[in-house]
Amino acid sequence: MNTEAFFKLTYGLYVVSSGNSTKNSGYIANTAFQVTAEPPQIAIACNKDNYTSELINETKVFSISVLKEQTSSETIGLFGYKSGKEISKFDNIEFKYGNNGAPVYTGEAIAWFECNLVKQFDVGTHILFIGEITESVLTDEVGKPLTYDYYRNVKKGKAPKNAPTYIAPAEEVDNNKNSDLGPKYQCMVCDHIYDPTEGDPDGGIAPGTPFEDIPDDWICPVCGAQKSDFEKM
Ligand code: FE
Repeated sequence: MNTEAFFKLTYGLYVVSSGNSTKNSGYIANTAFQVTAEPPQIAIACNKDNYTSELINETKVFSISVLKEQTSSETIGLFGYKSGKEISKFDNIEFKYGNNGAPVYTGEAIAWFECNLVKQFDVGTHILFIGEITESVLTDEVGKPLTYDYYRNVKKGKAPKNAPTYIAPAEEVDNNKNSDLGPKYQCMVCDHIYDPTEGDPDGGIAPGTPFEDIPDDWICPVCGAQKSDFEKM
């Protein structure tokens, strides 16, 4: 099997949320796709370990928010790399409750859908949930949606371990080859590697900046974790 072939499949990136006003959660999904137009139905593949899976089972409702291309690493980090079993994800972000009672993430979304669960299939590590769309809202007509390809190649993001598309990394070979600029550092949350020769130009860090010289308020460009969450390689 050539795992590189899997990267030729194309996906978007979404926040899938479920629950109600007393308990709720959401996660970053790339597997969300319309399955029928009449009635309008959408399918999502959700890891059984995700708290959101439990909430969809319990409340029978969920929402799907389409993320904009320039979605911040804080949002990706909150929904993609933190567990709803440990933190309350909707405490400090923009969201609303849909007509079906499920939370809908609105902050960096350009469109969203509210769904009622109609069917589910156990597919091993994941559950395939099919929802009938009861509401669809477009908030940004010209905004481009974030795609998985853009996230991987431009934002250098990786699939979290619970994603259906997660591929275990091959043995790292050159990561320990350090340049004169000092060692590389790795994010303990998302595995992103800070390479001093490349810096983080989008985050204001010029190529050639040793990790030690990065300001303390710098955050991981992929998941929004703090500088202190990085470890020397
Ligand atoms: Fe990170």
